Amino acid sequence: MGMTVRQMTKYLSEYPDDAGIGTMVVDTKNRKKYEIKDGNWLDMFSYPVLVLDVGEACDMDKAEKAVACECEEPEIVWNNSRSVSWKCKNCGGRKTIAKVNDYKERMRYCQRCGQRFNWEGVELDEA
Ligand SMILES: [Zn+2]
Repeated sequence: MGMTVRQMTKYLSEYPDDAGIGTMVVDTKNRKKYEIKDGNWLDMFSYPVLVLDVGEACDMDKAEKAVACECEEPEIVWNNSRSVSWKCKNCGGRKTIAKVNDYKERMRYCQRCGQRFNWEGVELDEA
């Protein structure tokens, strides 16, 4: 997942102390979600590990599909004839710069939150 305890603590601090914690296991490519039968935090490692026991896959509902599609579309911040910079809509992650000729192949996931990117239909400005 590529997340540190510091990042998770910051994320959690934005919610009330007594808020419940939601968990989803999804296959964003195929728009499926999995029933979660059980979950446990392990304390045998030097880092937190959440283990989820999943059941059957079912289709995401309309709202979940919409969120998945929205988050997958990277937001182009700027581009020129050689480089492109974008932002992850899921985490607001910092812009990353790559060469215009291969960014779609090299940048399939957000390096900060792991969000999958769908570059289909994303157009660069003429430069
Ligand atoms: Zn991200």
